[in-house]
This record gives sequence, C-alpha cells and structure tokens, in this order.
Amino acid sequence: MSNPQVKCTVDQCTHYMPGDQCMAAKISVYNDEMRGTSAKSQDTLCKSFHHRKTMGDMIGAFHNANVGGTMSAAFMEGTQITPAVECFVNNCKYWNTGNYCQAENIHVTGSNAAKTSDTDCETFAVKG
Ligand code: SF4
Ligand code: SF4
Repeated sequence: MSNPQVKCTVDQCTHYMPGDQCMAAKISVYNDEMRGTSAKSQDTLCKSFHHRKTMGDMIGAFHNANVGGTMSAAFMEGTQITPAVECFVNNCKYWNTGNYCQAENIHVTGSNAAKTSDTDCETFAVKG
C-alpha cells in the first residue's frame, strides 16, 4: 500500500516541525468544499491542519517533539517522519480507490495559514 512522503511548509500548524516535516500520525486531504471539485491545487486542503494559537504553543510543540530521545535520534539520523495520508480528492491523477495517494511525495503548502482552507496539496494534478 503506497503512502507518499509528506513535505509540509505550513509552519502555522501544530503538527509542523522544522525541516518541513509533519508530525501528525495521519492527515486527510479534501476538496475545498467552498470551491467545488478541484481543478487546481488551491482547491485542495489538509483537513488535519490545526492552527497554533500562540507563540507558547509553538515553543511547546517544538520542545515536546524535539527533546524526547526517540525524536531527536530520528532527527540525528536524518530519518524522515511522515504521516499516513488519506485523500478524498478523487479527480487527482494520484488518487486511488480506497482514498490512497499514489504520489511518491506530496507537498502541502499554505503560508500564514489560519484555517484548513488556507492549506493546499500542491502536488494535486487533474486526472486525464
Ligand atoms: S498542515 Fe497538514 S501536512 Fe502540514 S503539518 Fe499540518 S497536518 Fe501536517
Ligand atoms: S497528490 Fe492528489 S491524491 Fe495525493 S494527496 Fe494530493 S490531492 Fe490527494
């Protein structure tokens, strides 16, 4: 079962880690319902985005994830941490039955994101 390597640059998300990694166990990619069916990457979103409210959150998240032995060891070894991806954008050429993404890598973006609709799966490409 394929699962793409996730690179994320949404540094306003609680799951974001320096190095453009996502620390969530699983992410869900959806169509932005306000925009209807996706025709471009901006019509997709990462539903697992959770806005970090304060600077304290950011420091807390950074410390929690980074100071622990396992995590720092993983970082030292350069291990890439990546969540499981489920995707509901079924008109994307990488989408497969069972809500899988068959891309090797995906890039989630959204500078200064404050809500899920501010995020995008930049790897989205229309099927066909
Ligand atoms: S926006 Fe999505 S992919 Fe990026 S860190 Fe948050 S949960 Fe992970
Ligand atoms: S590349 Fe396509 S199938 Fe994969 S997560 Fe992004 S929108 Fe979904």
